[in-house]
Amino acid sequence: MSKVLIIGAGGVGNVVAHKCVQAAETFSEVLLATRTRAKADSIAAQINSPRLTTARLDADNVAETVALIRSFQPAIVINVALPYQDLAIMDACLETGVHYLDTANYEPPHLAKFEYSWQWAYHDRFKERGIIAVLGCGFDPGVTGIFTAHALKHHFDEIHYLDIIDCNAGSHGQAFATNFNPEINIREITQKGRYYENGSWIETEPLSIHRDVTYPHIGPRDSYLLFHEELESLVKHIPHLKRARFWMTFSQQYITHLRVLENVGMTRIDPVVYEGKEIVPLQFLKAVLPEPSSLGENYEGQTSIGCQIRGIKDGKEKTYFIYNNCDHAVCYREVKAQAISYTTGVPAMLGAKMVLDGKWTGAGVYNVEQFNPDPFLAELGGYGLPWHEEVNGALAFE
Ligand code: NDP
Repeated sequence: MSKVLIIGAGGVGNVVAHKCVQAAETFSEVLLATRTRAKADSIAAQINSPRLTTARLDADNVAETVALIRSFQPAIVINVALPYQDLAIMDACLETGVHYLDTANYEPPHLAKFEYSWQWAYHDRFKERGIIAVLGCGFDPGVTGIFTAHALKHHFDEIHYLDIIDCNAGSHGQAFATNFNPEINIREITQKGRYYENGSWIETEPLSIHRDVTYPHIGPRDSYLLFHEELESLVKHIPHLKRARFWMTFSQQYITHLRVLENVGMTRIDPVVYEGKEIVPLQFLKAVLPEPSSLGENYEGQTSIGCQIRGIKDGKEKTYFIYNNCDHAVCYREVKAQAISYTTGVPAMLGAKMVLDGKWTGAGVYNVEQFNPDPFLAELGGYGLPWHEEVNGALAFE
């Protein structure tokens, strides 16, 4: 039984708090800390458990986080604030000797670039301190890496082709909204696409390559090739990969809004001077868009995220598909969140549970595919994300 500190009380933080309180056998006390304390308080009022308390914290300030960790004494910190805070929170964990877990890799605020180099550079320091940092333990990155590790352990001798497919077929009734933090989401989508093939990274213009992909229980949806952070770690950790790609669905309405916003300069991340004050257009846009945590109430439909894999087993070619479908309305009934927050928050809680239950061990900085996938996948369905597999079926891609 251990204490957990959750940092960030947005859409994902809400789900992590609900799930940590549910998993009472592992998490004895839960502290939800965030920049705007009222948000943590409103989540706590909804959960209404004596084991959950809240605090105000600016996690950009390492000394503040160190002081909070020293007074609460958690065994692990779950970081579901923004990627900008990753390094500051890792510094605080190093100083206090506490395990760390996040769901998105570090991005410098003034450069729309996400890669693992900054966080991988902490490996030796975490190792020397005898603590573990689990990187990217949401759904994607997160479960997609664990699905791939499971495929390699139980279904293949060599994985050659990996396509991660991510569909949100839900409808929230808003003309335009993002399902997780709008600033991070729009920075990700407006970047160049990238995929790995035969030892090199191939760059593509943003949203320029798309295919119809048929998703289970949903049907065909237009899916766009994007760079997504788990590609970088999977290419490093899964041997024999010849190609790795990531696909995500977007509606025409979403893409039209995004293009207009880009064309008028609202997705810029460099400051502009407005009435004598510097503002960043994308940050201003975030302030006028709906909060991801507010989308749940009228959300209908499902998400479907999975890995389509082709490779070799016992000298023969084999195909394999592993996926989860998640229903927005069912999530809302359970924890007052939409499925994107839910599919991120459940794995974050479960990754922390793996560390505290002694099922994921080691010291240093690790991506999720480096751990044993079995105990994680054994519990994932029980916490609301059942998974399914199809062996030697037809895949969406050659
Ligand atoms: P939200 O914007 O809803 O929530 C972010 C929260 O972090 C807010 O409560 C915000 O506080 C808080 N925060 C921001 N800056 C600080 C700071 N300096 N100190 C303390 N708290 C801070 O985002 P989401 O909940 O949708 O997403 C959370 C994270 O999950 C993001 O990093 C996102 O990239 C990641 N994610 C990962 C996915 C995956 O599958 N791996 C999928 C979806 C999201 P305030 O309200 O005051 O701004």
